[in-house]
Amino acid sequence: MLILVTNDDGIDSPGLQALADQLQLMGRVVVVAPDRERSAIGHALTLHAPLRANAVGEDRWAVSGTPTDAVNLGIHGLLKQKPDLVVSGINKGSNMGDDLTYSGTVAAAMEATLMGVPALAISLASESFQYDDFSEAARIACTLAKSVLEHGLPADTFINVNVPAGAPRGIRVTRQGKRVYADAVVQNQDPRGRSYYWIGAGELGFQNLEGTDFHAVNNDFVSVTPLHLDLTNYAAIDRLRQWQFEPMLNDTKDNGAGDDQ
Ligand SMILES: [Mg+2]
Repeated sequence: MLILVTNDDGIDSPGLQALADQLQLMGRVVVVAPDRERSAIGHALTLHAPLRANAVGEDRWAVSGTPTDAVNLGIHGLLKQKPDLVVSGINKGSNMGDDLTYSGTVAAAMEATLMGVPALAISLASESFQYDDFSEAARIACTLAKSVLEHGLPADTFINVNVPAGAPRGIRVTRQGKRVYADAVVQNQDPRGRSYYWIGAGELGFQNLEGTDFHAVNNDFVSVTPLHLDLTNYAAIDRLRQWQFEPMLNDTKDNGAGDDQ
């Protein structure tokens, strides 16, 4: 059993350590993680700069790139065989609802999915930055990793796990919920009198809809959401087809020809 562990909080994060320690009970764990915090980096891939991978211990690599780089480089370059599983986390802070599109933790699992390796992303959904007891989340990661390996995931699918702080009441399979973002930009002045701005500083809310990741975690359940990479809104396809783009294109052509004459 070969498990690749990564994260977006950086290789020195206690969440990564707790996860790697627990997964070691299942097999060989190779950590390939960013050499510094890269939270909210999304699915960024470094294509225009060299990457370094420094061996910082046995089966432990610090990569000078993003979580996606770490998974890509790990699978294609550093490991001699394809891993059986990629686990990303344990992130400090939740990754639910629309936040998933920003998450480096989730993107690392996406990258593994693109490479045909089963993956799960796991986050500790604590609002408090002081709360850093990852032990329960690490134990849950191990349980879910075993389930993934036992049952296999549907094609192009990975799972996103959010663990509430404290002792969870159980596990719920959920759908992606809806964030309510505060439209707040903090503007201030630097010591040289120039304006600077801070985005994402406002209070975050969420729609407390039953069946969602937010609802589960808010009720002290572990949330397990199956995700896939196809972002198509299938329900909207027919509606867009009714817009009849082609006659519009012909109109544009006619107008263009008219202009030339
Ligand atoms: Mg993070």
